Amino acid sequence: MQEVIIIGSGPAGLTAAIYAARANLNPLVIEGLDAGGQLMLTTMVENWPGYRDGIMGPDLIAELRLQATRFGSQIITGNVDNVDISSAAIKVQLGETVYESRSLIISTGASARLLGLPSELKLMGHGVSTCATCDGFFFKERPIVVVGGGDSAMEEAIFLTKFAAHVTVVHRRDVLRASKIMQDKALNHPKISFEWNTEISEIKDVEAGKVTSVILRHVDSGVLKELSVDGVFVAIGHNPNTSLFAGQLDLDEQNYIKTTNGSLTSRSGVFACGDVQDPVYRQAVTAAGSGCMAAIDAERYLESLPILGDVNLGEE
Ligand code: NAP
Repeated sequence: MQEVIIIGSGPAGLTAAIYAARANLNPLVIEGLDAGGQLMLTTMVENWPGYRDGIMGPDLIAELRLQATRFGSQIITGNVDNVDISSAAIKVQLGETVYESRSLIISTGASARLLGLPSELKLMGHGVSTCATCDGFFFKERPIVVVGGGDSAMEEAIFLTKFAAHVTVVHRRDVLRASKIMQDKALNHPKISFEWNTEISEIKDVEAGKVTSVILRHVDSGVLKELSVDGVFVAIGHNPNTSLFAGQLDLDEQNYIKTTNGSLTSRSGVFACGDVQDPVYRQAVTAAGSGCMAAIDAERYLESLPILGDVNLGEE
């Protein structure tokens, strides 16, 4: 029986691990097959306090991981198949193995949202991507589009100008959601242009097995036009990874885990931190901060339990 299991290994999960390990809780961290979370898909992180020249996302995760293991966190790799929080011993199943714990910290983060076009799925990995850092290199001197109007889209567009001949940003409104500094960088970049009030209605060419063009649809007029491109980068936000907990924990209307008073979920002894419970801030540093809160909340919860006795499964 573990004291605490932490599912997820982004800044939230690893910070929770650092704090839980330093509280002698010997945390077991289960990192998914995409370990490290969204920072693994970023380049330079310029807003993590303490690094005035910035730090590469994967380097930051590597540091956090070493810091967590230095204090005694155990990290295993694999995607969790099932979680059962219905009894005092929380069960986390990974393949054939079932781990039991007195408390659980959920830091499963969020995953890239997709446009929902059949052609998008068919051409994923064949010119369609959700990760500029991973795939930008394949588009040297080629024209590409980036979809979205938030910070992710601007960041990807700017990053992709290192490789691409030209980047067209396709945004469904005429106002960007991105922060002012990212907007300015993208709007003033000589290799970036914008298609406003526009959506992608189709990605071609599924039969050829590669991206050759996109069909753009003006949202107001409905007018269609074809734009020749070799790549499509979808950067329209993320969905929280909460499918393991549907029906077991209270989720909000966007399926984020509902938390109160820090990291408390609707089941005592189960805590959530990072992007899986945060539809508002979604920053690496806020994720880390909430990871710290979850570990402290878990520690206090464990201290409050009788040495040998039943766990109260009611609302906190
Ligand atoms: P976001 O802020 O939610 O923006 C998503 C964008 O995609 C919006 O412009 C949205 O359009 C558009 N969109 C959503 N669904 C769409 C659809 N089905 N079809 C077409 N367009 C669609 O997501 P994000 O850009 O991933 O950013 C998430 C959070 O991370 C934010 O808090 C952001 O500040 C942060 N972040 C920060 C940095 C940084 O500081 N360097 C980098 C990346 C992300 P509408 O505008 O019309 O809703």
